[in-house]
Amino acid sequence: MRLILLVAGTFLLGAETPEDRAQRYLVALLKLNTSNPPGNETLVARYIESELEKVGIRSEVLGGDPNRLNVIARLGGDGSKRPLLMMAHSDVVPIEPRLWTVPAFEAFQKDGFVYGRGAVDTKALLAAEMSVLVELKKRGGRLNRDVIFLCEADEEAGSTEIQWLIQNAWPKIDAEFALNEAGARELTPDGTDVFQVQTSEKVPTRVILVARGSAGHGSLPRKDNAVAHLSDAISKLVKAYMPVQMNTTTRRYFRELAKLDEYRWMQPLLPKLESDRTMFETANEIGDRDPELDAQLRTTVSPTMLRAGMKVNVIPNQAEAQLDVRRLPGETKEEVYERFRKLINDPLIEILPEPGQVMPATEPSSLTTDLYKAMERVFLSTAKKAAVIPYMSRGATDGAFLRAKGMAVYGVPVFRRDDKPGRAHGNDERIRLTTLREGTALLLKIVEEIALAK
Ligand SMILES: [Zn+2]
Repeated sequence: MRLILLVAGTFLLGAETPEDRAQRYLVALLKLNTSNPPGNETLVARYIESELEKVGIRSEVLGGDPNRLNVIARLGGDGSKRPLLMMAHSDVVPIEPRLWTVPAFEAFQKDGFVYGRGAVDTKALLAAEMSVLVELKKRGGRLNRDVIFLCEADEEAGSTEIQWLIQNAWPKIDAEFALNEAGARELTPDGTDVFQVQTSEKVPTRVILVARGSAGHGSLPRKDNAVAHLSDAISKLVKAYMPVQMNTTTRRYFRELAKLDEYRWMQPLLPKLESDRTMFETANEIGDRDPELDAQLRTTVSPTMLRAGMKVNVIPNQAEAQLDVRRLPGETKEEVYERFRKLINDPLIEILPEPGQVMPATEPSSLTTDLYKAMERVFLSTAKKAAVIPYMSRGATDGAFLRAKGMAVYGVPVFRRDDKPGRAHGNDERIRLTTLREGTALLLKIVEEIALAK
């Protein structure tokens, strides 16, 4: 009896498809609460370790904090090419429980969706990568390069663990290129399957503006009113057309985008956008029409927090604003501060960098690597009408730290966007199970295309 059960069990395990396996992993991962802070990502690390062990993949669980461990596993290749890294983070952003209509940590399923914090960002990718790694192991094909799997903690709050890994375990994750989160796949109204590969990211550069004036009674207006000076300064920054800069990624992005029906209006503007003389006016025209495109062309400023005063009849001597500045990777912080100073042009305003996490600014990943070309081939063969477009994300990821080390990192667009706007970091975060399954199959194709010896 025992023997029969064992045989049946082995048979079932053997019959599990990569898609089924990814689904089983995702359900388990969503039940592990890794809200950051505090993270507790070791829950995920131990789960992955035990799952990989079941199929004979040895992994290493390591990190700078026992509650926040990372996982590294490696399948050996024949060494003829440099390794491929598949990475995904294990932490998630916190939830606001009263805004969720379904449980956030139970892998609740309804109407073909699985709900849970991290379903989109980015436990689906984590599950798919685990499943692909296991599939490669099971199929046993010869690999032309090592395939490294990395599950890293603390992406959402401080990126402390990717920095720890670079410091302490670099040879274990060093690779020619990496597949990471932040790719975007979407169907346009005319039926084109658009695969956006993230190859670059803007750099969060938080800024504090401080206005200082004299305090006094509200009944006597003063020219140096700190609140008035601060609001002037903010409005100057927000209204200004910032300088335009393009890089290899954004140049190709605009060119490819203009081929889609929705963006055909950009076609006559493209030559003007590429010429230094007309770039600025053209960018203004494009930006006025579509803020998302504008954000690809320049450093952006969003005032988000204000602090001033405590009583309506007292003029405060200080007022403070925080700005969420997203810098183009080709600009330095100093250049941005200097420009802000000139635009504001007010001795009562001081510009301070916000203390906190500093992200590196990096060159975009190359569009000519074997991995980028392999993705292009796979994506173009996936749909009848497909477009592959590199893009720079407005949000930052751990990939920036690896790019800064010279690794080509790509946000791989295997999952179709199920909701618009997306629910990453939002309420009732969810992914369609068919989306997960299709994405897993696609990821497997890409990894086989780049890592299987022909
Ligand atoms: Zn993420």
